[in-house]
Amino acid sequence: MLNIVLFGPPGAGKGTQSKKIIEKYHLIHLSTGELLREHMSNGTELGKVAHTYIDQGNLVPDDLVIKMVDVEIDSHPETNGFIFDGFPRTVKQAEALDELLEKKGEKIALMIALDVDEEELKNRLKLRAQISGRTDDQDEERINNRIAVYKKETLPVAEYYEKQSKLKRIKGVGEIDEIFNDICKAIDQVK
Ligand code: ADP
Repeated sequence: MLNIVLFGPPGAGKGTQSKKIIEKYHLIHLSTGELLREHMSNGTELGKVAHTYIDQGNLVPDDLVIKMVDVEIDSHPETNGFIFDGFPRTVKQAEALDELLEKKGEKIALMIALDVDEEELKNRLKLRAQISGRTDDQDEERINNRIAVYKKETLPVAEYYEKQSKLKRIKGVGEIDEIFNDICKAIDQVK
């Protein structure tokens, strides 16, 4: 299997690039944000708990997210691999993912980190708010909280993969196809 972590702040373009990556490499897109939104709209127990965290721009507790990911991985036994989007978001999640994959005889091949400056991110999120309908995209305070949480909780995850020599930074500003090309080069090196 080819397992890739796609990393970057809210608004970095992870969703856009994921779509292109899964098409080309036939991977399963595992976005914890999307899965959690599905749980919320289906009104599951997990969805009800997650709602209070997500709406404030805070992270959902690690144990809940890790369990959800474990179930999702097991539901795709035939896949070529996964692209993890929005996960792991804490070092604890990264450690849990390594353990989980090891038990299944798998590992992470690469982390791709999309670099986008903060001004550009805020502009993109404001634009997205107008079309996404996501409540956590709607006001500046909640967006700012998500960026603050990202810096405190999530940035250390890049170091975690850097220590394992699995981190590849890619400039996330410019033409979508150019960014995608850079991503493909990085993937083709580990494939
Ligand atoms: P974005 O890429 O805009 O940050 P996501 O769709 O990835 O948005 O996530 C939306 C929200 O869902 C996050 O702000 C957080 O509350 C919750 N969430 C998503 N993934 C995780 C995760 N791995 N751990 C904890 N919370 C998560």
